[in-house]
Amino acid sequence: MDKVYSHQKYESEIYRLWENSGAFTPRVDKKKKPFTIIMPPPNASDPLHIGHAREVATQDILIRYHRMKGEPTLWLPGADHAGIETQYVFEKKLAKEGKSRFDYSRETLYKMIWDYVMQNKKTMEGQLRVLGASCDWTRNRFTLDPDIIEIVYKTFKKLYDDGLVYRGERIVNYCPRCGTAYSQLEIDALERNDNLYYLNYGPVTIATTRPETIFADVAVAVNPKDERYKKLLGKTAVLPLVNRELPIIADGLVDVEFGTGALKITPGHDATDFEIGQKHKLATVSVIDEKGRMINTPQKYIGMKAGEAREAVVKDLYAAKKIKKIETIKHLVAVCYRDKGLIEPLVSTQWFIKVKPLAKRALLAVNKAEVKFTAEKFSKIAKHWLKNLRDWNISRQIVWGIRIPAWRCEKCLEWTITEGDQPAKCSSCGNANLKQDTDTFDTWFSSGQWPFATLQTLEPGDFSYFYPTSVMNPAYDILPFWVIRMIMLGLYTAGEVPFKEVLIHGLVRDKDGQKISKSKGNVIDPNEMVQKYGADALRVASIWGSLIENDNSLSEDSVRGQRNFANKIWNIGRFVFLEPKNKKGKRNEDDRIILKQLKTTTKRVTKLLDKYRINEATQVLYEFVWHKFADVYIEKAKSRRLEAQRTLDYVLQESLKLLHPFAPFVTETIWQESKGRFDTPLLISSSWPSP
Ligand SMILES: [Zn+2]
Ligand SMILES: [Zn+2]
Repeated sequence: MDKVYSHQKYESEIYRLWENSGAFTPRVDKKKKPFTIIMPPPNASDPLHIGHAREVATQDILIRYHRMKGEPTLWLPGADHAGIETQYVFEKKLAKEGKSRFDYSRETLYKMIWDYVMQNKKTMEGQLRVLGASCDWTRNRFTLDPDIIEIVYKTFKKLYDDGLVYRGERIVNYCPRCGTAYSQLEIDALERNDNLYYLNYGPVTIATTRPETIFADVAVAVNPKDERYKKLLGKTAVLPLVNRELPIIADGLVDVEFGTGALKITPGHDATDFEIGQKHKLATVSVIDEKGRMINTPQKYIGMKAGEAREAVVKDLYAAKKIKKIETIKHLVAVCYRDKGLIEPLVSTQWFIKVKPLAKRALLAVNKAEVKFTAEKFSKIAKHWLKNLRDWNISRQIVWGIRIPAWRCEKCLEWTITEGDQPAKCSSCGNANLKQDTDTFDTWFSSGQWPFATLQTLEPGDFSYFYPTSVMNPAYDILPFWVIRMIMLGLYTAGEVPFKEVLIHGLVRDKDGQKISKSKGNVIDPNEMVQKYGADALRVASIWGSLIENDNSLSEDSVRGQRNFANKIWNIGRFVFLEPKNKKGKRNEDDRIILKQLKTTTKRVTKLLDKYRINEATQVLYEFVWHKFADVYIEKAKSRRLEAQRTLDYVLQESLKLLHPFAPFVTETIWQESKGRFDTPLLISSSWPSP
């Protein structure tokens, strides 16, 4: 063996050895209970970041542990086309070349993004290999695989047939820059100061932060309990600048405390107003279009951007003496989660899923622990979301994604929904002139079906054997986007929860606990860390110190420190292999102590792994291998080498097994260097030490 372990010399060779041995592919055995993790599919458009390194390490540790315990173990890899994210990144790339998405036809743009994504996907998959991910590549899936799309279409059709999909005019969260609507979950709240204008509406004064929308007002509403306005109910207010009369109505949703307690009702540009408008059968007027420009207003404002129009309208209101006062208020505004710009609530016609019945069933599953969250705090968050979800807008105005299988009749304007095939004729009137909707599905609609969609499209029998899967291990920020939707859609389509346990993980932060981001300049590149210190060092460093559910700090120093641990393991192997095996040695007290300590360590590590306390398991092993085995036992054994050899070999073999899930490369390399000294040819396929 070399004096020093040089990871670069061995890692890729060892990975090939595992992959070629078929160790990543489980053997289905009906008599045994399988252990299954569906990998949260990384975005196919991005290389892996340091957070992925921790996620991959966590899942690979659990997978290798259960595989060694003899369970048929499946870790299913995949990639997500990540609709909005990818198109956003791609459009930025186009912009750098002085182009925009509108310079290309739908087909050309799709093809260009496809090629770009395929290239990145390959890089991402290479990174998973570099990190040692022992996932089953024969079952690798992509969210745009044709058979996956087929499943997504089937689910949509089933939802439609069950009356759970509707096309509705609703207030949507529209980002004029991204050019698409978003669901409630993709919106961030930003606190900022704005002017609150008190405007003269004749008999009432109303307060608004958005004077440019007054032309879309259709009523003024007051709370029925508000004594101040009782005598005005049924009368009319007057819209300034255009002198249109507006009915004064009563509605319990009006907040008596806000402004003057009289609210201008603008159903076209505010979600609450839309609700009030529907209740009172008021018209919906839009004065801002999807590009964020003014429409349906007095001529002088038409075509202005909403922000410019605000200034112009305020100026005119001022000149007309219609502004009674201006206050500054601190309030929350909705911003796009991608570009952080203002979201424009717009009325638009989109496809919606009625989530109430789905959420109700999912909530029941969480309450009954059909799905268990390993950390109670996340169970609470999931329940909160399940109780508060509004109908889910699943259409996106982008090309990168799964196109919605809905065709509109050019004659009767009704929609025909299929499982993906172009319909021959309109399902309402029989006309043959139909046009497919240009929108695509929200990415989370397809990834929400990932656990059953992947397993239903693989080997026959995979679904019935591996579903429901054992553990889902996503980052906490996608709990509402993804986890609860997988639970809803899994129960709805596959009849069972998609996974039995949810093991949410925290984020990787820098050594000062700061969030890692390009703008802070504290990015740690996983590739660079592996190059310099080896995959094992990065894996152990990324899980060291914190429970999975919590955020974790990482620095180059901590990775370097774990490289030293890998070297220590290597040196132990080298020392033990200096002498041939000796079955006969007589055991003394030292031997008995180390064997007892090994037993205790095995017990503790097994227990900790079963409880997902992988950071503590690593620390227990570190302590045992470095201090008890190397510092104490090996030092003493030097004086009675031949006698101790039997124990040395045994403790090394068992230590390598225990260490393998955490540091798979160095342990397998030593195992191979032993030239058949141990009980199986491959460490990855050896059995877990029994406590
Ligand atoms: Zn945006
Ligand atoms: Zn028709």
